[in-house]
Amino acid sequence: MATSFTSSNLFRLFMPVLMMIGVLAGVNHIIDATQANSGFVTNLPYILFATAIALSHTFKQSRMAMVALSMLLAYLVVQVRLQSPLSSGTTLLELSLLSLLLPVSCCLVYLFSDTGVISRGMAIFGVTIMSFVGWTALILSHFAGGGFLGFESDLLMAFPQISRLPLVLVLFTVAIVGATGIFLLNYNRPIDAAVFASIFMAGGTFIFFHIPYISSTLFSLSGVLIIIYVISASHQMAFNDRLTNIPGRRALEMDMKHLGRKFTIAMLDVDHFKSFNDTYGHDTGDDVLKLVASRMTGVGGNAKVYRYGGEEFTILFKGKTAKDSKPYLDELREQIQDYQMVIRDETKRPANTKQGVKKRGTKNDQSTVSVTVSIGAADSKTTRKPEDVLKKADKALYSAKEKGRNQVQCAR
Ligand code: GH3
Ligand code: MG
Ligand code: MG
Repeated sequence: MATSFTSSNLFRLFMPVLMMIGVLAGVNHIIDATQANSGFVTNLPYILFATAIALSHTFKQSRMAMVALSMLLAYLVVQVRLQSPLSSGTTLLELSLLSLLLPVSCCLVYLFSDTGVISRGMAIFGVTIMSFVGWTALILSHFAGGGFLGFESDLLMAFPQISRLPLVLVLFTVAIVGATGIFLLNYNRPIDAAVFASIFMAGGTFIFFHIPYISSTLFSLSGVLIIIYVISASHQMAFNDRLTNIPGRRALEMDMKHLGRKFTIAMLDVDHFKSFNDTYGHDTGDDVLKLVASRMTGVGGNAKVYRYGGEEFTILFKGKTAKDSKPYLDELREQIQDYQMVIRDETKRPANTKQGVKKRGTKNDQSTVSVTVSIGAADSKTTRKPEDVLKKADKALYSAKEKGRNQVQCAR
């Protein structure tokens, strides 16, 4: 649930692409439908972006609001300034500047952290956008005054059979769509998806600007996508653990309702974590939990991982017995054991080193430590009630602790 197909990076990358292909394929139909309802359709993007901003305010996601605001203003410019033919006056120059500045302002949101919408960050962002508008007005007045002679034929050279937008800006748009797409593939946070979808849809609008009503269609789609991502981000906040950013107990409880016939539940507990905290401090302890969580997300066998609470984690394998799952759990246990974590605070040297908290050699004057984990696993062979399977996994975990820790035990 918390990591469903619809929130996977590939889905988030291809959804806008498929939408765009759909629009371009059905473009004549869309033009007809838009003409019949033009009052509603041309105003729809405003409604959607305003909704996105209101939702961002409710869920304290100012960066999403910044993306939605940028898109709203860009759409406003398109509607107010760019409805005359591109060959007339400064229309082409204005379109060019817009296609340059919109991606820039969408990417600027990465300089901010998420707060409420009525905040200092939002004010700074607003001032930045206004400075873009002022800068554009300066360029336009310079142009109108006869500046940039030959500018249009050189820098703004276009290949009309592909796009009326100058070639250099088509290339810029493709490059920035590619860059934000790679960012989305790597990080896959809702804000990455929103920035990518917005730049992609706006870029499509600017490149295919000669198609009637393209702006209201593509900007509406981006409005819908931003709303989806705002909701998905707040959903993630509710179900993910704050420290480790993996799904928490609530997500586990939801997922335990849809496990099917065959499944395995494993409980993982960090060995001697209390003494680790006492030796290195709570902050380093938190780093260990983050490290364990990040190793766990790489576990094989299509497993889902959760922070159960404290230094305990849960791993779910659907469609697998405990025997099927054990190799993946052993691999995970070894990976955590082999990882050398650098201690941030050098003043916190170990007073005593117990098993499971081993201080390793000092490399470049940096102490490294390693932690170990014990894992207990149980499957649905003898009981299909997930709560009972979890209890059995917990018992197996205690037997792993008793037998000396740093091992995987399966319940019989
Ligand atoms: P064992 O090998 O038997 O599991 O020993 P242990 O010390 O890990 O077991 P115990 O359950 O006694 O200790 C768990 C400790 O985890 C207690 C608490 O200080 C620490 N802890 C729980 N939650 C957090 C957290 O969010 N951050 C940090 N830094 N420590 C936590
Ligand atoms: Mg414990
Ligand atoms: Mg422990």
